[in-house]
Amino acid sequence: MADEKRRRPRTCIGCLSESPKKTLIRIVRSPDGIVTIDRTGKKPGRGAYLCLDMECIEKARKKNSLARALRCTVDNSIYDELIAIVEGEQGR
Ligand SMILES: [Zn+2]
Repeated sequence: MADEKRRRPRTCIGCLSESPKKTLIRIVRSPDGIVTIDRTGKKPGRGAYLCLDMECIEKARKKNSLARALRCTVDNSIYDELIAIVEGEQGR
């Protein structure tokens, strides 16, 4: 466990709640500054969490929460990718 994980609870940056009932997905900025969606939750780097929920993703997109949480610019395609994941989960 990284130190950061112990210090910070896994709070969704969209709805700002810990949402134990919803699945949280981790977005990580790697040490070389690449932002990716971390479905394993094990990639190194600064992480942020979002509910696997369309509303939370759109909220985060509007407020640019991901960029603020990760302290770097986040490409819009990351949000599109998250939405595609949510749609994939719902489509089962
Ligand atoms: Zn949320």
